[in-house]
Order: sequence, then C-alpha cells, then structure tokens
Amino acid sequence: MITQVLKPDAAAYDLASRLLRAGELVAFPTETVYGLGADALNAQAVLRIFEAKNRPADNPLIVHIWDASQLDALCEPSPTARRLMDAFWPGPLTLLCRKKTTVPNAVTAGLDTVGMRMPSHPVAREMLRRAGVPVAAPSANRSSRPSPTTAAHVYEDMQGRIPLILDGGACDYGVESTVLDASGDVPVILRPGAVTREMVRELLGACEVADSVMRPLREGEAAPSPGMRHKHYAPRGRLTVYRGPADRVAAAINRAYDASEGRTVILALSPHLDRYQGRDTMSMGESLLEAAQRLFSCLREADARGYDRLLAEAVSEQSVGLAVMNRLARAAAFDVEDV
Ligand code: AMP
Ligand code: MG
Repeated sequence: MITQVLKPDAAAYDLASRLLRAGELVAFPTETVYGLGADALNAQAVLRIFEAKNRPADNPLIVHIWDASQLDALCEPSPTARRLMDAFWPGPLTLLCRKKTTVPNAVTAGLDTVGMRMPSHPVAREMLRRAGVPVAAPSANRSSRPSPTTAAHVYEDMQGRIPLILDGGACDYGVESTVLDASGDVPVILRPGAVTREMVRELLGACEVADSVMRPLREGEAAPSPGMRHKHYAPRGRLTVYRGPADRVAAAINRAYDASEGRTVILALSPHLDRYQGRDTMSMGESLLEAAQRLFSCLREADARGYDRLLAEAVSEQSVGLAVMNRLARAAAFDVEDV
C-alpha cells in the first residue's frame, strides 16, 4: 500500500472522508498528537486500527466527534461529564461515558464505557465534519513507540500500512488528551494531559488523580485506564529519569553520564543545559508546556541519532508537568531515581 501524505486542502479532505466511509484508515493531526482514525461504527474498520498499530485488543480507543449533537447516538454522559464538556470542549479532554449498543465492542475493548473527545484542531474538525461519522482513533504510532507529534513521525511508523496521512504540521500540546472518569461524585483523572487537575478543580471544586498514574500497576491489579497496563512511549535506548533538588539531579546525571559506555544523551530543560557542559544534551524547552510539546519528538530524535542511553531530568508534577512525568516515567519503564 502506498501511503500518501497530503496537506489538508479540499481534495485531501474529500479523499479522507471517502476513505473513512469506505472503512479505511486515515491519520490526522489533533491539538494533542496525531490520531489514527476509522469509522467508529464500523467494527471491521476499527479492527484495522489494531492491526496497523499492532495494538493489544484489550486497549480501548477514543471516539472523536465534531459536534455535541453526535453524543446522543453513542453514549450517556453523566451530568458532571456534561459540565466538563461545556467547559473544555473542543479541547484535549476525553470523558468516559456509558456507551450505547451502537458503539462496537471492538472500540471499547469490551468495556461498558466509551472515551469521548471533541478535538479543537481545525484539520481534525473539518475532517470529522466532512466524514459525517464518529471516528475512533488512538495515537497514530506503532504500539509501544512514542506518540507522533508530526506527520513525519506518523510516516515513520505507518508507511505502507495506511493509505493517507493529513499533514497539519506539529501538534500544539504534544501529549495525549486527559482521560477523565466523571461517573462518580469526584471526577478522577486516569491519564493526565493538558486539561489539568488544577483546571478541573477550579471548575468543579474537586478532582482526584488515579494513583496508578505515577507508578507501575501491581501484579494482578486492574488498570483504571487500560493503556496504562502496556509498555508505552519507549525509545529504543534505555531511559532513566532523575528526580530531586536541581543540583543533586545534575550531579547524579553527570555521574551516570561519565560512567556510561556507548552513546549517551541528557534530556534537560534549556535553562539547565549549562550544568551538563561538555556532554551530549537535548533541550526539552523552557517551560512545562514546551516540555510536553517536545517530549515525544526528543525521544524519537534520540533514536534517530543512535543514542542507546538516555538520562532525563524529572520536571515538576504541577499542571501539565504531571502529564510530562507520566509519559517520561512510562517511557523509562518506571526507572525513576530519587536523588
Ligand atoms: P491512546 O490515546 O492511543 O493512548 O489510546 C486511548 C487511551 O484512552 C487508552 O489507552 C486508554 O488508556 C484510554 N481509554 C479509552 N477508552 C477508555 C475507557 N472506556 N476506559 C478507560 N480508559 C479508556
Ligand atoms: Mg497511544
């Protein structure tokens, strides 16, 4: 199969909606990461996503809509979910809602809830509007690889496996949507993202974060968000994250760097780079938002440059920093050292 990469003009949107309606896959940009979409109401099409990604069948997909009028046919949002939709949609927030029977089990991996999201990215919105069907989409990477934040990343992973990638440039947030369970009294974040705990608290007065967000699941423990069970976001090189006071982190990273054999690189916020002089470094940017935006492309670039050892500074777990740390810790298979 030839994979076309097209700028989103009228002809490209037209092709995308024809493909989606015919049960084929289309990769598209969103404000979080690139998604790999299929008609959410077509179980055969949905299965193709799992095949193309090599994704375990027990990992559910998120259903993307462009208009709230599509909700009723698909799910029953709780009153709290409705409030969150009003406040944060369109945007990087996925809400778990009780699913209706119209949604195939392949989408939800057999769960009775479905993750619903209305993206704000203009290309995603236009594609969804023209397709006229809800679109099930996980991130457009091969399973376990870092999520794609550019069309080139998608091409790297999906070349020959899908017919079309819509190229909308680099994604704004760079980390996947916040996944939130609003079925109970207190909303619970199952996967942190750019809609933060602080923002939800401000709106509703309360918001918890599932404690499995920052630690590996225990043997036999049920995953509140199934994606958390799987190896995730991993670069090919071995990654360790160092957490603690900045000067101790720098000292520990420099010691590990100097003792390491093979090709090693340090991932740090740019204001800290001078602590690692004379060593290979990559900048995660100036701020937590930039770190979110750049994290996955840093991991892919470290692979492309042939590094087999990565040493990363932890970032603050405040606001979007929690999303960055959640992805970093998973990419490191929880090799996080407190120093
Ligand atoms: P991705 O955005 O590629 O990471 O895939 C979607 C992720 O959303 C999954 O890995 C799950 O962690 C989460 N998710 C989707 N639907 C549900 C659901 N019904 N219940 C819990 N988590 C979900
Ligand atoms: Mg993913």
